[in-house]
Amino acid sequence: MDTKLKSLLEKLNREHSLELEEYQLLIENINPDLMKLAAEYAVKYQKEYYGNRVFIRGLVEFTNYCKNDCFYCGIRRDNRECERYRLRMDDIISCADEGYKLGFRTVVLQGGEDLAFKDQDICNIIKGIKAAHPDMVVTLSIGERDHDSYQAYFDAGADRYLLRHETANPELYARLHPGEMSFLHRMNCLQDLKNIGYQVGAGFMVQSPGQTAGDLAMDLKFIEEFKPDMCGIGPFISHKDTPFAKEKSGTLEMTLFLLSLLRIIYPQMLIPATTALGTIDPKGREKGILAGANVVMPNLSPTNVRKMYSLYDNKICTGEEAAECINCLKGRVSSVGYEIVEDAGNRVGFFD
Ligand code: SF4
Repeated sequence: MDTKLKSLLEKLNREHSLELEEYQLLIENINPDLMKLAAEYAVKYQKEYYGNRVFIRGLVEFTNYCKNDCFYCGIRRDNRECERYRLRMDDIISCADEGYKLGFRTVVLQGGEDLAFKDQDICNIIKGIKAAHPDMVVTLSIGERDHDSYQAYFDAGADRYLLRHETANPELYARLHPGEMSFLHRMNCLQDLKNIGYQVGAGFMVQSPGQTAGDLAMDLKFIEEFKPDMCGIGPFISHKDTPFAKEKSGTLEMTLFLLSLLRIIYPQMLIPATTALGTIDPKGREKGILAGANVVMPNLSPTNVRKMYSLYDNKICTGEEAAECINCLKGRVSSVGYEIVEDAGNRVGFFD
């Protein structure tokens, strides 16, 4: 292996930090030996902090209405082909109940930015879940809201919030989103969430249209500096009814390599092996765990709406009942020597 690249990885392993150009050099020169060494370092940290335990998050996709029009997203506002749905409050709570019975101790309420759900509605859902299951962690993934809304959800009992930044380069952000959306606002939201006291998840797309190695280096630098509690990354996958329909997908290799680098940058971070990874490769999630990921996010949404929450084409796991999903994942995770656990799965060190 090129000694310069090897010494960069060793430096990252020692200092958990690199210069922007150094990250870029690693990304530009991705190769199997470099991936292997990065995964070795990553798994060492994964085992040190989490052993062979893999956390599960039960995903409830409760609305596919969205006021935004992100160019890459299948449920964007202007996609007239998208059949829309909203779950009722008691259905959402039933999904959480079902998840609890199956061993989930974290539920993720995810949706487009759907303003039909007022702050009070969101608070009532959170309170309903917490009343039934005080030890269930409630994670929200409902996009950009203002500080007071975030505070209200937190006060109602929400514990975590996922808000992918998608790219840390404002210029690329502007090419992936319509002009009405603001990079600065997205970043301010992440900071607000952190200040309020949530465990915060950021994340980015890998090899989105026009993205360069330099852009990805900026993402790694952002994660190094912002230190979110979670970071979700997945390969870009196109959706047929979007302006990016004909764009190439991101690769398994680059996603796995970046997963390993993220684990080395911030060893205690919660890192999911995403459904998008499982979509581009039948063993993508297992490979993600072997590259340093420690979370999987099976779907708890009712099966009759699963296909409608189509952010990208060919998304997997849209037909199975929740119980089938978890059993399938238990098998997948144990096939690579890890174990799914019934645990809230907080970020090591968050409550210290
Ligand atoms: S990526 Fe999120 S905010 Fe953008 S259109 Fe899709 S659901 Fe809405």
